[in-house]
Amino acid sequence: MYAVIMAGGKGTRIKSLEPNLPKPMIKICDKPVLEHQIDSLKNSGITDIVLVIGYLGDKIKDYFKDGKEFGVNITYINEEEPLGTAGSLYYLKDRKDDDFILVFGDVLFDVDFERFIKFHQNNKAYITLLVHPNSHPFDSDVLIVDNKKVMNILSKNEPRNYYFMNLVNSGIYCINKKVLDYFKEPKKLDLEKDIISHYMSEKLVYAYRSTEYVKDMGTPERMNQVTEDFKKGLVNKKNLKLKQKCIFVDRDGTLNDANDYVRKLEDFKLYPGIEDSIKKINESGYLVICITNQPVISRGECSRNMVEKMHLKLGMLLGEKGAYLDDLAYCPHHPDKGFVGEIESLKIECDCRKPRTGMIDKMVRMYNIDVNESWFVGDMTVDIKTGKNAKLKTILVETGFGGSDKKFLDKPDYKAKDFSEAVNIILEGRK
Ligand SMILES: [Zn+2]
Repeated sequence: MYAVIMAGGKGTRIKSLEPNLPKPMIKICDKPVLEHQIDSLKNSGITDIVLVIGYLGDKIKDYFKDGKEFGVNITYINEEEPLGTAGSLYYLKDRKDDDFILVFGDVLFDVDFERFIKFHQNNKAYITLLVHPNSHPFDSDVLIVDNKKVMNILSKNEPRNYYFMNLVNSGIYCINKKVLDYFKEPKKLDLEKDIISHYMSEKLVYAYRSTEYVKDMGTPERMNQVTEDFKKGLVNKKNLKLKQKCIFVDRDGTLNDANDYVRKLEDFKLYPGIEDSIKKINESGYLVICITNQPVISRGECSRNMVEKMHLKLGMLLGEKGAYLDDLAYCPHHPDKGFVGEIESLKIECDCRKPRTGMIDKMVRMYNIDVNESWFVGDMTVDIKTGKNAKLKTILVETGFGGSDKKFLDKPDYKAKDFSEAVNIILEGRK
């Protein structure tokens, strides 16, 4: 396995900061971004690195040389004239490796590549994109993903007056060598428009969802942001090789106002201040994942499609304020039969319906979550029971049912007025 880093870009948007440096050589805490990238790759055992250089490429070569000093082996592809974001991949045609990693030189990341590559290989993908929600979905291209496959890319330049998923391409790829057959000659090609679109239409492009830190530093503002995050330790802490801390949160009655259950899209409204609280979690290093029972689906009161639309709306409402959920899981099942219009196949004893822990267990595996350092926040005793069952610390909020369902007798570790106070208790240790 080798990695290709596209380090030839001009970086016009960030040039004001360092006019005589190529963008990947700009330093974040005394180290060029490119060196941070190489460190992260090396930590996943990837030491065979190909640097595609162009603009001011000599500065990169002078610094890294053959890579020995950095514990890796570096070879160079020198673009005499710019070949776009993919054209130079032509020069990799002779390589024997089945797959390779491709990253862009203006992205600060720390990623467990072994986990990423395993996903790519298990799915026999041609191209896998590392994807995540971000804090600015409205000025990002977003992805339509269906069952792990990338179906479409919606451009930020096209009007999007509908609910879409806050899921964006991070700029990190795993690519199978078969893709190199596409390259017939060294010419200018665009990775997204030419290559990804082509394989997307053949349903060979996959999305790997990760909560790891991957952010581009291509503008002075973003540069400041990633520098701050790096200083706070957020970049390294979120690597999925390390145990993660998570706040699991119930939906109805905790995040959004709900009389029992929400059935219509227009009825889905967040409580005041929820966006700010979620944003606070996003900036804290904790993950935040919503876990909700939606028996309305099995009872035939609300289609699965409608529930998913509500979750898109939830993502949009948060996105408008720069906040996002790291993930969300819902249980569509219900054990009791006998409702008019119910969906027979969903009327089962599943292992995901709270207070069972199936949804949490899956997230714990996906994101390497340490349950001892994680929480469940909800408005019903069933949420507290779920938290206890999953060995999480628990907070009961007074909104929604405020515990009045009284189905279970388990006592929460803390009580809070609302979700915002619960988040303060967790992040600031307030009792
Ligand atoms: Zn279920």
